[in-house]
Amino acid sequence: MESVDVVVIGAGAAGMMCAIEAGKRGRSVLVLDHAAAPGEKIRISGGGRCNFTNIHASPKNFISQNPHFCISALARYTQRDFIALVERYGIAFHEKTLGQLFCDGSARQIIDMLLAEMKRHAVQLRLATSANSIEPTEDGFVLAVGGGRVRCKSLVMASGGKSIPKMGATGFGYEVAAQFGLRVVETRPALVPLTFEARTLERLKPLSGVAVDAQIACGRTSFSEAMLFTHRGVSGPAVLQISSYWREGEEIRIAMLPQTDLFAALRTARVENGRQALQTALAVHLPKKLAQTIADELGLTGQLADMSDKVLRRVEDAVNGWRIKPAGSEGYRTAEVTLGGIDTRELDSKTMEARSVPGLYFIGEVVDVTGWLGGYNFQWAWSSGWCAGQVA
Ligand code: FAD
Repeated sequence: MESVDVVVIGAGAAGMMCAIEAGKRGRSVLVLDHAAAPGEKIRISGGGRCNFTNIHASPKNFISQNPHFCISALARYTQRDFIALVERYGIAFHEKTLGQLFCDGSARQIIDMLLAEMKRHAVQLRLATSANSIEPTEDGFVLAVGGGRVRCKSLVMASGGKSIPKMGATGFGYEVAAQFGLRVVETRPALVPLTFEARTLERLKPLSGVAVDAQIACGRTSFSEAMLFTHRGVSGPAVLQISSYWREGEEIRIAMLPQTDLFAALRTARVENGRQALQTALAVHLPKKLAQTIADELGLTGQLADMSDKVLRRVEDAVNGWRIKPAGSEGYRTAEVTLGGIDTRELDSKTMEARSVPGLYFIGEVVDVTGWLGGYNFQWAWSSGWCAGQVA
């Protein structure tokens, strides 16, 4: 029977990072993936340029039932460590916005870098291969792999979440957790487009293509990022971010001019230019199409001079206190990540090893640690993968 020190299931960001680190320690490492190519999510990430980390990554950018769990891993292998690796490989990159680092060229460069590191440290990669069953033994595990069997001392589950099943996502990590009696926090799609009722879509249709820098809130969480009106309602980074916090039946609150005291601005306009139409005054601050739609929706087609403070307050409320109830989300089909996963109470936060199953590790997205949009999810994959790689 084939025998190695470490089997890593999943040649994604977390699995490859873990394999490199274990390989550096002289461990014999076999990485299995049922996909035909490694790092498929890296390849399509960041619009093909891979937002590989965030300069400002810190534990507050992650969602988990235990917000403290990620602190140790993020401190042990930081964004600066990953940036140093990228620089060592001479990969050019830039900050796009809000600390998000992207390759200047292609996401393929990140995959090639990881593959080169794996090769350098003698990691074996076996693609188009899945593990069918896992049997615990006295000193490790025996896996049924393809037609044969593989023995290993350490088994690292880096099989990712449920998002984008078309790209090979499976619930395998959760099944393995169940097999070993480990708790799993209920999963749900996150960083996912929200959907809206036909009536809302009809109202928003004329705005398709309009973009604003909005502040979107749900409960006590808010994000200030770009929002785009589309034929599917509202979309863009701000909406994806809030989707990770939104629950069925809840409203989201949108401020389309969060930095502006619109009431004061409209009062000034009324004094200085009372014959102006509302949409013209609004168009000073907002895209013209949006200004027109708001005036039409409110039925305010007259001059500013005829509008009372009460009316101007209504306008401000429509712009900065817009409430909208999503009907649902597009689900795992288009979600960038999966919220929930292996309950962090089951894992050692320094090593990612299951507390009750020595030699079994869970890293990356399969764990109940989910980042915001902006390079945080890859940073979690690098950090958690690196930690497991030091001990597996
Ligand atoms: P994955 O990358 O999902 O890797 C898991 C691997 O396991 C896969 O290769 C899969 O084929 C394999 N696998 C699954 N089941 C089995 C099985 N039974 N047997 C064998 N192999 C199996 N995050 C960012 O930080 N920045 C971005 O720019 C970004 N853009 C994204 C864009 C899109 C469209 C999507 C979908 C996600 C994006 N993400 C981004 C999120 C990021 O891709 C993931 O969080 C990250 O890839 C998780 O890494 P992972 O190694 O845990 O899992």
